[in-house]
Amino acid sequence: CGIVGYVGNKPVVPLIIEGLRRLEYRGYDSAGIAVGSPRSDLELRRAPGKLRNLEEVIREHPLHGTFGIGHTRWATHGRPTEENAHPHRDCSGRLVVVHNGIVENYLALKHELITEGHKFVTETDTEIIAHLIEQELSSAAESGKTMPLEEAVRRAARRLTGAYAIGVISADDPDKIVAARNGPPAVIGLGEGEYFVASDVPGILHHTRDLYFLADGDVAILTKAGVQLTNLAGEHVERPVQRILWDP
Ligand code: GLU
Repeated sequence: CGIVGYVGNKPVVPLIIEGLRRLEYRGYDSAGIAVGSPRSDLELRRAPGKLRNLEEVIREHPLHGTFGIGHTRWATHGRPTEENAHPHRDCSGRLVVVHNGIVENYLALKHELITEGHKFVTETDTEIIAHLIEQELSSAAESGKTMPLEEAVRRAARRLTGAYAIGVISADDPDKIVAARNGPPAVIGLGEGEYFVASDVPGILHHTRDLYFLADGDVAILTKAGVQLTNLAGEHVERPVQRILWDP
């Protein structure tokens, strides 16, 4: 339901929580966050219920990083439990995904992935996205290639039917967020040496007023050096920078 992601030099956890709070009006039943840094694995915290429950978990078990993504979930597939809250991991735990929308062909994909040995721990449609990305990365690795995260996301996204706005981070590709959109809105915020992704303008407008609105089929790659936009085939696309003068 709500997505906020950040790559930059500010403390990432409070920034993401604050952004999610500004998206609370959309409604949600659980929340979660994942952060990473160049020298560590991803860390994940999730909680059912309100954001204050997630904040309580974070107070008890603090987490630190230089990039991250957070999500408030409106459950469509799987009960609103901690387990089913986003972000969702692949088998390796090296990458995580947050997702708004519904993957309509998730059961067919899940069966295929299970046949290949993937193990699922949630009832969500979202979890298959993490495993599809993992599948692309590991088949590249098996043939001796390293695939950038964005290429694996594009390949995975091409297999999805249904609606999605997704955010993906990986411990193996640090200080990067890959976002993709087909249906639910996604906006990219442009700062100086810091970049944001959100499911809606109010999640990031207090940090920057210069935004890209992703079109369906767009993939955005955010690093501290800037934002690149491509289509699902990997070709460069241009979107106008829109300056938002209104306040939410
Ligand atoms: N379909 C996903 C789920 O149930 C995403 C729901 C949402 O948009 O928050 O977990």
